Amino acid sequence: MEYEAVIGLEVHAHLLTYSKIFCGCATAFGAPPNTQVCEICLGMPGSLPVLNRKAVDYALKMALATDCTVAPESVFARKNYFYPDLPKGYQISQFELPLAEHGHLDIKVNGQSKRIGITRIHLEEDAGKLVHSESRPVSFVDFNRTGVPLIEIVSEPDLKSPDEAVEYLKGLRNILLYLEICDGNMEEGSFRCDANISLRPLGAKELGVKVELKNMNSFRFVKAALEFEIKRQRANLSAGREIIQETRLWDTAANQTVSMRGKEEAHDYRYFPDPDLVPVRIVPDWLESLRKNLVELPQARLQRFQTEYGLPEYDAEVLTSDKALADYFEATVKEFPHPKQVSNWIMGEFMRELKEKPSLMSTITPAAAGKLLKLVETGAISATASKGVFVEMVKTGKDPEAIIKEKGLVQISDSGALEAIAQEIIEANPKEAADFRAGKIKVMGFFVGQLMKQTKGQANPQLANEIFQKLLGEGR
Ligand SMILES: [Zn+2]
Repeated sequence: MEYEAVIGLEVHAHLLTYSKIFCGCATAFGAPPNTQVCEICLGMPGSLPVLNRKAVDYALKMALATDCTVAPESVFARKNYFYPDLPKGYQISQFELPLAEHGHLDIKVNGQSKRIGITRIHLEEDAGKLVHSESRPVSFVDFNRTGVPLIEIVSEPDLKSPDEAVEYLKGLRNILLYLEICDGNMEEGSFRCDANISLRPLGAKELGVKVELKNMNSFRFVKAALEFEIKRQRANLSAGREIIQETRLWDTAANQTVSMRGKEEAHDYRYFPDPDLVPVRIVPDWLESLRKNLVELPQARLQRFQTEYGLPEYDAEVLTSDKALADYFEATVKEFPHPKQVSNWIMGEFMRELKEKPSLMSTITPAAAGKLLKLVETGAISATASKGVFVEMVKTGKDPEAIIKEKGLVQISDSGALEAIAQEIIEANPKEAADFRAGKIKVMGFFVGQLMKQTKGQANPQLANEIFQKLLGEGR
């Protein structure tokens, strides 16, 4: 039997506020353990939470960016459960009345556009973090993360493949980065995702038993975990075994998902409205002022890159898929106003290096990049030599002009000097010269290549061509 996968994602994104969602403690990552805590985020008796307005602003921006309907009134609820990283014994979240609902995000997989529904976006606080000792059988708890504001973005089960899931995640992350409300750092856990996945016979309406996958902190792991789970569930169903509703973890070492615990149902958490917090009322003016000041989003920028710079859709897609890259492109075009050339360069050499060196955008400033492209354009260096200059810029971060001077890479456009070398090459290769004179004009490539070799790529190729035409033509 053929099966199809049904995938829904729950994304948690840390909001980039300076202070926590219900108290004034700092949120910065990496501080010594338990130094960013107070009686409120530790849940001491008698302490009262106060909502951080900035966190609401940020959550609303995301709601607007994904075309959600914002609820005029939403309510914070207590999600009750015990875990050592949760000092209050409950997490403040939203349940029945979330901040926003019914949005969507458009993704593109294999050239096909698809709309993925967003069920809801709600605000909540993060829990602390357990640190397990590797040398001793003990665990420590760090409450610095307790109370850091999160939005949870829940998708409809509209995703059909691991590739679609990854595209959706990349799209969400990109919007968060464009809005500058989340740093998107997956390793530090500021952007993380759980997946619900089930299989059903192809064409069936009813959903199969779902499994929740946790602990996936990179796009690669999300893809691998979903692929593994599709195989596992298909094998079980084909063999007539039942799928158990449970929570599974992605084990990066073993490359497989492993059972963690039976899945809780919502009623296990005994949700109820938090009596310490008033409902959140969003007045229309608040929402309107956020809407008016919303930054340009990836989709809009993609369109603009095609109309304003005349870029092909493919270029525009690659460049706008990463806000930093799109910013870099625009800054470089300001220095060197030939958009397609800048795009070619960024999407070629530059991105190849960027994969290895994420800090490349600060090593090579847009001003330096523009200068390099200008040097090729004006003929000061050859395109071949520019590749060597770029490698040196990557290594040292030096100015391209300084590198050219140091390495003596200035393009030789002095015809007298080139002619002398060309003459020697012709004399050393009488057979090729005769071939050319006999009409085999393809041999020209050989001669220019020889000249490039002897001048270490510094000869102006246009000029080299003209010189050989002249010298070889004379003897004809
Ligand atoms: Zn606190």
